[in-house]
Amino acid sequence: MNTPHYHYLFGPVPSRRFGRSLGIDLTPRKTCSLDCVFCQLGRTTRKTLERKAYVPTADVIEEIEQWLKSGTSADYLTLSGSGEPTLHAQFGDVLAFLHRQPIPSVLLTNGTLFYLPEVRAAAAQAQVVKVSLSAWDQRSFEWVNRPQQQLDFATIFDGLREFRKGFDGQLWIEVFLLAGINAMPKDVKKIARLARALRPDRIHLNTTARPPAEDFAAAVPKARLEELTGLFEPPARIAADETAHRSPKTIADEASILAMLKRRPCTMNQIETAFGLHINEVSKILGHLIDTHQVRADLKRTEVYYTSTSIGSHSFQTQDK
Ligand code: SF4
Repeated sequence: MNTPHYHYLFGPVPSRRFGRSLGIDLTPRKTCSLDCVFCQLGRTTRKTLERKAYVPTADVIEEIEQWLKSGTSADYLTLSGSGEPTLHAQFGDVLAFLHRQPIPSVLLTNGTLFYLPEVRAAAAQAQVVKVSLSAWDQRSFEWVNRPQQQLDFATIFDGLREFRKGFDGQLWIEVFLLAGINAMPKDVKKIARLARALRPDRIHLNTTARPPAEDFAAAVPKARLEELTGLFEPPARIAADETAHRSPKTIADEASILAMLKRRPCTMNQIETAFGLHINEVSKILGHLIDTHQVRADLKRTEVYYTSTSIGSHSFQTQDK
Protein backbone atom coordinates (compact mmCIF):
# COMPACT_ATOMS: atom_id res chain seq x y z
CA MET A 1 0.00 0.00 0.00
CA ASN A 2 1.25 3.45 -0.86
CA THR A 3 1.43 5.91 2.03
CA PRO A 4 2.14 9.32 0.53
CA HIS A 5 -1.00 10.77 2.12
CA TYR A 6 0.47 10.29 5.59
CA HIS A 7 2.36 13.27 6.94
CA TYR A 8 4.20 11.59 9.79
CA LEU A 9 4.42 7.94 8.73
CA PHE A 10 6.62 6.36 6.11
CA GLY A 11 7.07 2.86 4.85
CA PRO A 12 6.94 0.16 6.01
CA VAL A 13 10.54 0.33 4.86
CA PRO A 14 13.01 -2.52 4.88
CA SER A 15 15.35 -1.93 7.77
CA ARG A 16 18.73 -3.53 8.31
CA ARG A 17 17.90 -4.30 11.91
CA PHE A 18 14.12 -4.36 12.10
CA GLY A 19 12.73 -6.20 9.11
CA ARG A 20 9.72 -4.26 7.81
CA SER A 21 9.43 -1.17 9.92
CA LEU A 22 6.75 1.52 9.85
CA GLY A 23 8.60 4.79 10.43
CA ILE A 24 7.05 7.51 12.58
CA ASP A 25 8.71 10.88 12.12
CA LEU A 26 8.29 13.39 14.96
CA THR A 27 10.59 16.18 13.82
CA PRO A 28 11.11 18.36 10.77
CA ARG A 29 14.03 17.34 8.58
CA LYS A 30 17.41 17.33 10.29
CA THR A 31 16.23 18.73 13.61
CA CYS A 32 18.81 17.05 15.78
CA SER A 33 21.08 17.57 18.76
CA LEU A 34 23.99 16.21 16.72
CA ASP A 35 25.45 16.78 13.27
CA CYS A 36 27.21 13.47 12.72
CA VAL A 37 29.81 13.45 9.96
CA PHE A 38 28.35 10.15 8.74
CA CYS A 39 24.70 11.27 8.70
CA GLN A 40 23.06 9.93 5.58
CA LEU A 41 20.46 12.69 5.58
CA GLY A 42 23.08 15.42 5.08
CA ARG A 43 24.12 18.16 7.47
CA THR A 44 21.93 19.15 10.40
CA THR A 45 20.01 22.32 9.61
CA ARG A 46 18.56 22.83 13.10
CA LYS A 47 21.02 21.74 15.81
CA THR A 48 19.13 22.15 19.05
CA LEU A 49 18.35 20.82 22.51
CA GLU A 50 14.94 22.48 22.56
CA ARG A 51 12.23 19.97 23.39
CA LYS A 52 8.81 20.89 22.06
CA ALA A 53 5.89 19.53 20.05
CA TYR A 54 7.53 19.86 16.64
CA VAL A 55 4.52 18.14 15.09
CA PRO A 56 1.01 17.76 16.62
CA THR A 57 0.96 14.60 18.75
CA ALA A 58 -2.79 14.01 18.29
CA ASP A 59 -2.36 14.07 14.50
CA VAL A 60 0.49 11.57 14.66
CA ILE A 61 -1.56 9.18 16.79
CA GLU A 62 -4.56 9.57 14.48
CA GLU A 63 -2.42 8.64 11.49
CA ILE A 64 -1.08 5.56 13.29
CA GLU A 65 -4.66 4.54 14.13
CA GLN A 66 -5.63 4.93 10.48
CA TRP A 67 -2.63 2.92 9.38
CA LEU A 68 -3.40 0.12 11.85
CA LYS A 69 -6.96 -0.06 10.50
CA SER A 70 -5.67 -0.26 6.91
CA GLY A 71 -4.56 -3.85 7.49
CA THR A 72 -0.98 -3.24 6.32
CA SER A 73 1.54 -5.29 8.24
CA ALA A 74 4.91 -4.40 9.73
CA ASP A 75 7.33 -6.09 12.10
CA TYR A 76 7.94 -2.95 14.15
CA LEU A 77 6.54 0.54 14.69
CA THR A 78 9.59 2.75 14.90
CA LEU A 79 10.14 6.29 16.12
CA SER A 80 12.86 7.40 13.77
CA GLY A 81 12.89 9.59 10.73
CA SER A 82 14.62 12.74 9.75
CA GLY A 83 15.75 14.04 13.14
CA GLU A 84 16.10 13.06 16.82
CA PRO A 85 12.69 11.80 18.09
CA THR A 86 13.37 12.53 21.77
CA LEU A 87 13.45 16.25 20.95
CA HIS A 88 9.68 15.98 20.55
CA ALA A 89 8.37 16.92 23.99
CA GLN A 90 5.58 14.30 23.79
CA PHE A 91 7.35 11.37 22.20
CA GLY A 92 6.44 9.47 25.38
CA ASP A 93 2.72 9.91 24.61
CA VAL A 94 3.28 8.35 21.19
CA LEU A 95 5.21 5.45 22.75
CA ALA A 96 2.44 4.99 25.36
CA PHE A 97 -0.06 4.65 22.50
CA LEU A 98 2.22 2.24 20.62
CA HIS A 99 2.65 0.17 23.76
CA ARG A 100 -1.05 -0.76 23.58
CA GLN A 101 -0.76 -2.05 19.99
CA PRO A 102 0.02 -5.63 18.94
CA ILE A 103 3.17 -4.62 17.01
CA PRO A 104 6.33 -3.98 19.04
CA SER A 105 7.66 -0.45 19.22
CA VAL A 106 11.19 0.75 18.69
CA LEU A 107 12.87 4.02 19.58
CA LEU A 108 15.89 4.89 17.48
CA THR A 109 17.74 7.63 19.31
CA ASN A 110 21.13 9.23 19.57
CA GLY A 111 20.67 9.07 23.36
CA THR A 112 21.96 12.60 23.93
CA LEU A 113 18.92 13.66 25.98
CA PHE A 114 18.96 10.62 28.28
CA TYR A 115 20.56 12.75 30.98
CA LEU A 116 17.02 14.10 31.51
CA PRO A 117 14.91 11.87 33.83
CA GLU A 118 11.72 12.67 31.88
CA VAL A 119 13.32 11.50 28.62
CA ARG A 120 14.46 8.25 30.25
CA ALA A 121 10.98 7.62 31.66
CA ALA A 122 9.34 8.28 28.29
CA ALA A 123 11.86 6.13 26.39
CA ALA A 124 11.39 3.19 28.77
CA GLN A 125 7.94 2.59 27.24
CA ALA A 126 9.46 1.27 24.00
CA GLN A 127 10.05 -2.46 23.66
CA VAL A 128 13.38 -1.86 21.93
CA VAL A 129 15.56 1.20 22.42
CA LYS A 130 18.47 1.49 20.05
CA VAL A 131 21.04 4.13 20.98
CA SER A 132 24.11 5.27 19.07
CA LEU A 133 27.57 5.17 20.58
CA SER A 134 30.40 6.02 18.22
CA ALA A 135 32.74 8.01 20.47
CA TRP A 136 34.56 7.41 23.77
CA ASP A 137 35.18 10.90 25.18
CA GLN A 138 34.29 14.54 24.61
CA ARG A 139 36.97 15.05 21.98
CA SER A 140 35.99 12.08 19.83
CA PHE A 141 32.30 12.96 20.35
CA GLU A 142 32.95 16.44 18.94
CA TRP A 143 34.89 15.04 16.02
CA VAL A 144 32.45 12.29 15.03
CA ASN A 145 29.07 13.62 16.16
CA ARG A 146 29.56 17.42 16.21
CA PRO A 147 27.14 17.88 19.13
CA GLN A 148 25.13 20.92 20.13
CA GLN A 149 27.63 22.93 22.16
CA GLN A 150 26.08 22.36 25.60
CA LEU A 151 26.24 18.58 25.31
CA ASP A 152 28.73 16.81 27.52
CA PHE A 153 29.73 13.25 26.66
CA ALA A 154 30.27 12.08 30.26
CA THR A 155 26.85 13.43 31.34
CA ILE A 156 25.14 11.72 28.41
CA PHE A 157 26.87 8.44 29.19
CA ASP A 158 25.81 8.64 32.85
CA GLY A 159 22.25 9.18 31.60
CA LEU A 160 22.47 6.06 29.43
CA ARG A 161 23.74 4.04 32.38
CA GLU A 162 20.91 5.30 34.53
CA PHE A 163 18.43 4.39 31.79
CA ARG A 164 19.74 0.84 31.58
CA LYS A 165 19.26 0.38 35.33
CA GLY A 166 15.54 1.01 35.07
CA PHE A 167 14.82 -0.41 31.59
CA ASP A 168 13.92 -4.07 31.25
CA GLY A 169 13.24 -3.99 27.49
CA GLN A 170 15.80 -4.65 24.78
CA LEU A 171 18.67 -2.18 24.65
CA TRP A 172 20.56 -2.22 21.39
CA ILE A 173 23.64 -0.17 20.61
CA GLU A 174 24.72 0.95 17.19
CA VAL A 175 28.37 1.82 16.73
CA PHE A 176 29.06 3.74 13.56
CA LEU A 177 32.67 3.30 12.46
CA LEU A 178 34.56 5.40 9.95
CA ALA A 179 37.94 4.63 8.43
CA GLY A 180 40.68 6.89 9.80
CA ILE A 181 38.32 8.49 12.34
CA ASN A 182 37.12 6.07 15.02
CA ALA A 183 37.86 2.56 13.68
CA MET A 184 41.40 2.00 15.03
CA PRO A 185 41.29 -1.09 17.33
CA LYS A 186 42.60 0.94 20.30
CA ASP A 187 39.69 3.38 19.90
CA VAL A 188 37.09 0.72 19.18
CA LYS A 189 38.20 -1.00 22.41
CA LYS A 190 37.36 2.20 24.31
CA ILE A 191 33.88 2.31 22.74
CA ALA A 192 33.47 -1.40 23.52
CA ARG A 193 34.35 -0.82 27.19
CA LEU A 194 31.66 1.85 27.48
CA ALA A 195 29.14 -0.30 25.60
CA ARG A 196 29.74 -3.21 27.98
CA ALA A 197 28.84 -1.01 30.95
CA LEU A 198 25.37 -0.54 29.44
CA ARG A 199 24.73 -4.31 29.36
CA PRO A 200 23.23 -4.19 25.86
CA ASP A 201 21.19 -7.04 24.42
CA ARG A 202 22.70 -6.47 21.00
CA ILE A 203 25.43 -4.42 19.40
CA HIS A 204 25.54 -3.56 15.71
CA LEU A 205 28.54 -2.24 13.87
CA ASN A 206 27.68 0.00 10.99
CA THR A 207 29.59 2.03 8.46
CA THR A 208 28.69 4.31 5.60
CA ALA A 209 26.79 2.64 2.77
CA ARG A 210 25.35 5.77 1.22
CA PRO A 211 26.95 9.16 0.67
CA PRO A 212 27.37 10.67 4.15
CA ALA A 213 27.15 14.32 5.26
CA GLU A 214 30.90 14.70 4.78
CA ASP A 215 33.12 13.24 2.07
CA PHE A 216 35.84 12.38 4.59
CA ALA A 217 33.51 9.98 6.44
CA ALA A 218 34.84 6.88 4.68
CA ALA A 219 33.51 3.34 5.04
CA VAL A 220 35.35 0.61 6.93
CA PRO A 221 35.71 -2.50 4.74
CA LYS A 222 33.47 -5.40 5.79
CA ALA A 223 36.43 -7.71 6.55
CA ARG A 224 37.82 -5.10 8.93
CA LEU A 225 34.43 -4.68 10.63
CA GLU A 226 34.28 -8.43 11.10
CA GLU A 227 37.64 -8.37 12.89
CA LEU A 228 36.31 -5.73 15.28
CA THR A 229 33.11 -7.57 16.26
CA GLY A 230 34.96 -9.70 18.84
CA LEU A 231 36.01 -6.64 20.85
CA PHE A 232 32.42 -6.24 22.03
CA GLU A 233 30.40 -8.10 24.61
CA PRO A 234 28.11 -9.53 23.48
CA PRO A 235 30.02 -9.86 20.19
CA ALA A 236 28.80 -7.23 17.76
CA ARG A 237 26.88 -8.04 14.62
CA ILE A 238 27.44 -6.29 11.35
CA ALA A 239 24.34 -4.52 10.10
CA ALA A 240 23.01 -7.10 7.63
CA ASP A 241 22.25 -6.48 4.04
CA GLU A 242 18.72 -5.19 3.84
CA THR A 243 18.03 -6.85 0.49
CA ALA A 244 16.40 -9.85 2.15
CA HIS A 245 13.67 -7.66 3.62
CA ARG A 246 12.78 -5.68 0.53
CA SER A 247 9.05 -5.47 -0.03
CA PRO A 248 7.28 -5.44 -3.43
CA LYS A 249 6.51 -1.73 -2.88
CA THR A 250 10.18 -0.94 -2.31
CA ILE A 251 11.15 -2.87 -5.40
CA ALA A 252 8.53 -0.97 -7.44
CA ASP A 253 9.74 2.38 -6.08
CA GLU A 254 13.32 1.37 -6.80
CA ALA A 255 12.50 0.54 -10.42
CA SER A 256 10.74 3.89 -10.91
CA ILE A 257 13.60 5.84 -9.34
CA LEU A 258 16.16 4.01 -11.45
CA ALA A 259 14.11 4.74 -14.58
CA MET A 260 14.19 8.44 -13.71
CA LEU A 261 17.92 8.43 -12.96
CA LYS A 262 18.54 6.88 -16.36
CA ARG A 263 17.00 10.00 -17.86
CA ARG A 264 18.52 12.66 -15.62
CA PRO A 265 20.70 12.94 -12.52
CA CYS A 266 18.76 14.03 -9.43
CA THR A 267 19.42 15.03 -5.84
CA MET A 268 17.84 13.14 -2.95
CA ASN A 269 15.39 16.03 -2.44
CA GLN A 270 14.32 15.96 -6.07
CA ILE A 271 13.61 12.22 -5.85
CA GLU A 272 11.72 12.69 -2.59
CA THR A 273 9.50 15.36 -4.17
CA ALA A 274 8.98 13.51 -7.44
CA PHE A 275 7.84 10.27 -5.77
CA GLY A 276 6.22 11.59 -2.60
CA LEU A 277 8.50 9.33 -0.54
CA HIS A 278 10.00 10.02 2.86
CA ILE A 279 13.68 10.99 2.79
CA ASN A 280 14.56 7.82 4.75
CA GLU A 281 12.90 5.64 2.12
CA VAL A 282 14.75 7.47 -0.67
CA SER A 283 17.99 7.09 1.26
CA LYS A 284 17.52 3.34 1.68
CA ILE A 285 16.55 2.79 -1.95
CA LEU A 286 19.53 4.81 -3.18
CA GLY A 287 21.76 2.85 -0.79
CA HIS A 288 20.67 -0.40 -2.39
CA LEU A 289 21.06 0.99 -5.92
CA ILE A 290 24.60 2.16 -5.06
CA ASP A 291 25.53 -1.13 -3.37
CA THR A 292 24.40 -2.99 -6.46
CA HIS A 293 26.33 -0.59 -8.73
CA GLN A 294 23.23 0.58 -10.57
CA VAL A 295 23.60 4.17 -9.42
CA ARG A 296 26.57 6.34 -8.48
CA ALA A 297 26.79 9.56 -6.49
CA ASP A 298 28.60 12.64 -7.82
CA LEU A 299 29.30 15.81 -5.87
CA LYS A 300 28.51 18.80 -8.10
CA ARG A 301 29.00 22.22 -6.60
CA THR A 302 27.60 21.68 -3.10
CA GLU A 303 25.03 19.00 -3.89
CA VAL A 304 25.19 15.24 -4.38
CA TYR A 305 23.55 14.07 -7.60
CA TYR A 306 22.57 10.46 -8.23
CA THR A 307 23.00 9.06 -11.72
CA SER A 308 22.36 5.71 -13.31
CA THR A 309 25.69 3.99 -13.99
CA SER A 310 24.39 3.23 -17.46
CA ILE A 311 24.82 6.95 -18.21
CA GLY A 312 28.46 7.84 -18.89
CA SER A 313 30.03 10.45 -16.61
CA HIS A 314 30.76 12.61 -19.67
CA SER A 315 27.03 13.13 -20.12
CA PHE A 316 26.51 14.36 -16.56
CA GLN A 317 24.64 17.65 -16.53
CA THR A 318 22.92 19.18 -13.56
CA GLN A 319 19.44 20.18 -14.63
CA ASP A 320 18.11 22.32 -11.83
CA LYS A 321 14.60 23.43 -12.36
S1 SF4 B 1 22.97 10.33 12.24
FE1 SF4 B 1 21.16 10.59 13.53
S2 SF4 B 1 21.96 11.58 15.35
FE2 SF4 B 1 23.50 11.89 13.78
S3 SF4 B 1 22.99 13.85 12.81
FE3 SF4 B 1 21.95 12.24 11.61
S4 SF4 B 1 19.90 12.18 12.49
FE4 SF4 B 1 21.21 13.23 14.00
